[in-house]
Amino acid sequence: MKTLKIAIQKSGRLNEKSVEILKNCGLSFENYKSSLIATVANFPLEILFLRDDDIPEYVQDGIADLGIVGENVIIEAGADVSYLQPLGFGKCTLKIAVQSTSNITELSQLNGKAIATSYPVILQKYLSENNVDAQIRNISGSVEIGPGLGLSDAIFDIVSTGGTLKSNGLKAFKNVMDSQAVLIASKGMELNPEVLELLQRIQSVLRAKA
Ligand code: ATP
Ligand code: ZN
Repeated sequence: MKTLKIAIQKSGRLNEKSVEILKNCGLSFENYKSSLIATVANFPLEILFLRDDDIPEYVQDGIADLGIVGENVIIEAGADVSYLQPLGFGKCTLKIAVQSTSNITELSQLNGKAIATSYPVILQKYLSENNVDAQIRNISGSVEIGPGLGLSDAIFDIVSTGGTLKSNGLKAFKNVMDSQAVLIASKGMELNPEVLELLQRIQSVLRAKA
C-alpha cells in the first residue's frame, strides 16, 4: 500500500486547525514544532509541514497527494488540483480598499489608478471581468501602507475585521472573493481508496461539528 502524503501549513493561521482536524480523524502523529515531516502511526500517511504558498504546487505536481490550504492561495497560484472538501476554517474575504477620505465610489473610478496587492492574479482577473484598466503593484506584504505613502491609490488584500484598514486610514470598497481552507488532492488521486477513507473521516468530523 502506498503511503500518502498530505501537505499542511507549518505555522500560521491554518496550522492549528489543520492539525486538529487530522487528529479528530483518529490519526495519531507527533507534532513537533521543529519537524518538517511526521509519520502517522495508524494510517498510511505522512504529513508535510510547509509554507502555505508552496502547498498548491506540491499537490499539483504530486509531491504531496493531498493538501490543506486557503482557496485564495490555490487560485493565486493557478494550481490545477482537485477540490475535495471545504473545511469551514480560515475564513476571510479579499477586498479592494481605498483611503477613508477617497471619493472613489464606483469601480470604473479605478481606471488608470495604481492598486497594491500580494494577490495580483486574483485582482487582475476581477479587474478584467469588470473592464477596469488599473495598474497592479505587486508587493509581498504590508500593502496597507501603500496609499498613505503615495505608492498606490488603492489596495487589494485579505480583510477579516477591518481594524488594520481603519488604523491605516483606509476603508473597504469592494468585496472580491470569500475564501476558506479546503482539502485538495492531486488530479487522479480522488479515487484512491485511502484518500476516500480520509475524506470520509474528515466529512464525519465536519458533520459532528455542524
Ligand atoms: P506562511 O508562512 O505559511 O507563508 P502566511 O503568512 O502566508 O503563512 P497566514 O497569515 O498564516 O499566511 O494565512 C494563511 C491563510 O489564512 C491565508 O492565505 C488565508 O487563506 C487565511 N486567512 C484567514 N483569515 C486571515 C486574515 N485575517 N489574514 C490573512 N489570512 C487569513
Ligand atoms: Zn504564505
